[in-house]
Parts: sequence; structure tokens; C-alpha cells
Amino acid sequence: MKNVKYSLKLFTVFGIPIELHVSFLILMLFIYAVAALNLFPGINLLLAVLITLVFVTVVIHELSHSYVAQRYGVKIERIVLLPIGGVSAMEEIPKDPGQEFRIAVAGPATNFVIAGVCYILVFLGASHLSGTLQDAIYYFALVNLILGGFNMLPAFPMDGGRVLRAYLAGRMSYVRATRLAANIGKQLAIIMAIVGVFYNIFLILIAVFIYIGAEQEYRTIMVSTLLEGITVGNVMTRDVQTVTPETPISEVLNLMFQKKHMGYPVVENGNLVGILTFHDVSGVVPDRRSEAVRLFMTRDIISTYPEEPVADALERLNKKQIGRLPVLSEGVLVGIISKTDILRAVEVMNLKIGE
Ligand SMILES: [Zn+2]
Repeated sequence: MKNVKYSLKLFTVFGIPIELHVSFLILMLFIYAVAALNLFPGINLLLAVLITLVFVTVVIHELSHSYVAQRYGVKIERIVLLPIGGVSAMEEIPKDPGQEFRIAVAGPATNFVIAGVCYILVFLGASHLSGTLQDAIYYFALVNLILGGFNMLPAFPMDGGRVLRAYLAGRMSYVRATRLAANIGKQLAIIMAIVGVFYNIFLILIAVFIYIGAEQEYRTIMVSTLLEGITVGNVMTRDVQTVTPETPISEVLNLMFQKKHMGYPVVENGNLVGILTFHDVSGVVPDRRSEAVRLFMTRDIISTYPEEPVADALERLNKKQIGRLPVLSEGVLVGIISKTDILRAVEVMNLKIGE
């Protein structure tokens, strides 16, 4: 969840920027508007209070995860608040089951502690607190209970899914633990959807959200685990078809058609000077196809090197949304690595591990 865009920074806690996603903002404005227009008489103040309490609760929940994660040396980029809850954009969480368990459990545990403290407060101070304040504390406790409880459902992307995986990972390999936890989450989602058909449509939405979350988590972990210890040099294509800055575009189009490779490094006097992809060529009108590659190639080259872990190269490909990276060793082009190469390596490794 590193690519959460369209968010506004609110403030910073423990050095972590807290951001509000635009969809959350729109939802809040909508609800405030409903309240202001008095569509449901008498409910406006209560709604405003409730939204604020949910907002505060979600921030505290995410900060608890981040606080524990930071203590294990995980860097936290930011926390983004979405209508479905918060997302902490952090570096990869350590694959140490004990650490993951404590990071995951910190959020819901904090919510339960807050709820407990609120109930004690209301109980002890019942005669001193005003009715409105009592109600507010009571709702705050309830919001914390619901958020904490919902997040402890044993399904990705909820914290309970991570807790379950951490528990399983102490007893089997990380990939198998993730697969088992993801399957449990999916089955839970299916049961939820069936119950939802009879009782509440909203449950079906949550079920879809859980099902997709489980599948995504499993895929991400599988890919990064299977690629562990594999370098770019192990996977790259070594004999690279290159073109020169003076090659006509029409010739490159023929190459693409014959070789089925959609990107070519542009080399001049043994130096890599650019890269030409199908994306660059597709915009060239037929009249200009006799012109030279240098007019259309991409000059700022994002490259990799043979010793780089493949998982890092894949992350760069995904982040920059490109299909391939030229591989340079001491400034010399020694190969090219594409997303297809990497995914093929994943498939082979998956076969090796077996079921
Ligand atoms: Zn959480």
C-alpha cells in the first residue's frame, strides 16, 4: 500500500506524517452536510461527535502499530486515513514471527485498553460527569471495541490475519503459513458473504474486501519469499539485442514483431545512451518511421546491476511502472531484465517448492 495518492497531510506524531485521503475527506464533508441540512432532525451533533471519535480512534490504532514497528527499526513513511480505516505505509515488516505478532497486536490491544479505561472512567465518575460527556466517553469506548474487534478477525488485510500468520509461521515455513492464513481468511469471507445475503448487504462488501486482501497478501509474500537470494544476474537475459541511435524506427518495429521483445537498449560506441520501448515507438506516426531512434528514445535510463537482489529490481519496475531494466556492470551493458523474466523465475521457484 505504498502508492496511496491524493492525500492531505494533517500533522506529525513520533515523526510520522498523518495524512487524510481525499475519499475520507469527501465522506466526512458529505456526512457533515447531511447533518447541517438537518435531513435527520436531532442527529447532527451526535454524528459530528461520532465521526470525530472514529477519526481519533483510527489514528491511535495506526500509531500503536507504527510505534512498535519503529522500535524494531522499521521505517514508517506515513499513515494514511481511508474511510475503511488507516493504512501505515512502512518498509517491509520483519519476517520474524515474534516481531510481526507484536506489531500486529499493538493496534487492537490499544483499542481494547482505551475501551476498558473509558468504562472504568464512566463507572467511577458517574455522579460527577455530565450526561453528554458520559455519552461521549461511552461512544468512544464502543468505537474502540468495534474497531479492535473487527481488526482481530483472523483474515488479511486485518491485523488478526497477521497475528494468525505469525502464530502459524512459528510452526511452518513463512510461505506456507501465509498460504494457510490467506485460505482461512478467504473461507471466512465466503461465510460472511453468505450470511450477508440473508442479513445485511454491507457484510458482502466487507467479504469482498477481505477476499481480495487475502489473495494480495499471499501473492506479495510468495513473490518476495521465492525471490529471496536470487540476483538480477541469475535471471537476466544475457545476449541483448541492441539498436543504435541512428537505426530507423521502422527497423525497430520489425525487430519487435520478430523477436517479441518490446524494449531495446540504445548503444553508441559501446556506451548505453538510451532505451527505446514499444511505448516510445507507438506514438510515432507512419510518415516519421524512417527517422532515427535517437529522436524518440528515453534518455534518462533507470538501470540495475548483476548483484542486485531481484526483489529490489522488481520493486523498482513496479514503482516506476516500466517493463524492463538494462543491467550494467562497471558501465558496460551486460544484460536486460524484464518483468516477464522475473515472473518466470517466480513460477520456476514455486514448482521447486511444490505444494
Ligand atoms: Zn491495525
